[in-house]
Amino acid sequence: SSNDILINSNNASTKKWRVFLFPYFSRGHLIPMTDFAGLLSASHPDIELTMVVTPGNTKFITSSLGKSDNSTQQQVQILTYTFPSIGLKPDVETVGIDKLVESSAIDQAVYMARPSQEQVLQQYKPDAVIADIKLPWIAVIAATLRIPCLFLATSGAFPSLAYKCLSRMPANIGLYDHVTVLGPPGPEIRMPVLELPPLVFQDYAQYVERMQKILDDAFGIVVNTFRDLELEYCNEMEKGLAGRAYFVGPVSISCARDQRSTLERGGQGETGCLRWLDNKEERSVIFVSFGSQSYFNSAQLHELAMGLEESGQNFLWVVRGVDNSEEWIPEGWEKRIAERGFVLRGWAPQVAILAHTAIGAFVTHCGWNSILEGTAAGVPMLTWPLASEQFINEKLLVDVVGCAVRLWEGGKRSTRETESELVPRTVIAHAVSRFMEPEGEYASVHCKARELGAEARSAMAEGGSSMSDLSRLINDLINAMQSKTCQ
Ligand code: UDP
Repeated sequence: SSNDILINSNNASTKKWRVFLFPYFSRGHLIPMTDFAGLLSASHPDIELTMVVTPGNTKFITSSLGKSDNSTQQQVQILTYTFPSIGLKPDVETVGIDKLVESSAIDQAVYMARPSQEQVLQQYKPDAVIADIKLPWIAVIAATLRIPCLFLATSGAFPSLAYKCLSRMPANIGLYDHVTVLGPPGPEIRMPVLELPPLVFQDYAQYVERMQKILDDAFGIVVNTFRDLELEYCNEMEKGLAGRAYFVGPVSISCARDQRSTLERGGQGETGCLRWLDNKEERSVIFVSFGSQSYFNSAQLHELAMGLEESGQNFLWVVRGVDNSEEWIPEGWEKRIAERGFVLRGWAPQVAILAHTAIGAFVTHCGWNSILEGTAAGVPMLTWPLASEQFINEKLLVDVVGCAVRLWEGGKRSTRETESELVPRTVIAHAVSRFMEPEGEYASVHCKARELGAEARSAMAEGGSSMSDLSRLINDLINAMQSKTCQ
């Protein structure tokens, strides 16, 4: 296979600890791992980081790392291995790049790359490995080479514990209407079965058992969250789910320190939307975005367009992967909303947008990264979950934390698109306009969101909980690397 170092390391006089990172290939996983790599590399001069990816994923990572000369994140290196041939188009190596390619195809390729990943580890013998939790076999390879392996969880403690609980559900779970997904120490969390991640219906108990065994044998787990957001769940995770757990988020805050890498994160840079926001009043714009993988059908796009118009509010809406404008843009709509609406086609500089003072609220699909980025910016959220564990994340925000409100409760919602009802324009218009009222019904939710934003930023500041966990992680890891212990 074609292993080649793209960026060479500096010659150093002191002992450098070489740590290799293996991300999973979706933007929702590449972004937090890249942010974490930047954070780790900036936190310790003797830790040398290398991200190990396929060629199709390098551009995305380099744009996220930032290219300014004085950037400490510059020190993160990239090593490539070949993307396995599974019949995809040459440039499709990431989930969500091509809407016709299922994420299971990328899963399969990532798994098929195991021999290449093993070869990299054997050839370079790094001092430690950090792998995305979706690549559990990396721990098995690392153990045979006596290299400590940490996992990075790109979702929080609350959803991780819910996943664990769901493995204890009866096999005929599909026959129930509602199930309890989490209990004490927090409140009882009950959810409609329709809103559960599809994963839990497929030999799930065995899968979780295997994962738990791997986690038990690994060095520990790094979680992109912060204690003030979900303290009792972090404590629970520390006790039960993983030997050592480190809560080091929101990692997007470390990326936000470098203005340029924030803008270029993901490649597209400024698209005019920030300049547009500059001319809007403080907290007067609702940001509408559904992550890097979800696609709405034309009927839902049409309702959303009408709903945003009827809300009477300013909005910045990210529309991805649609070229059939004539099918969903209402007649004359673009003209009617020209003053107060900005439609961004393609990749948005989301962290920079959320940090803009003109943003007053965020309509989100509740992907974990988006939630944390919204939280970090102190922006209240209107939730519109669509798939995987997004409905579980919504429960945390709306029912436990109180920094968000459900956009729609009335109709049938499901993690399977075919079972979900269309969200009507009147519901969207009403929810958005009510939520944007500054001193309205949701003033306490806005207030909670601002409070949480301040807590997120102090967690990432010197002496904050996430920074303390990061120092603990670095100490533990260096000790393990020195003594060559894996556990
Ligand atoms: N993102 C972005 N611009 C976009 C769409 C997404 O920067 O136009 C980023 C977003 O900031 C987040 C990630 O992509 O960091 C999406 O991850 P998330 O967990 O929210 O959702 P997923 O895409 O995995 O469903």
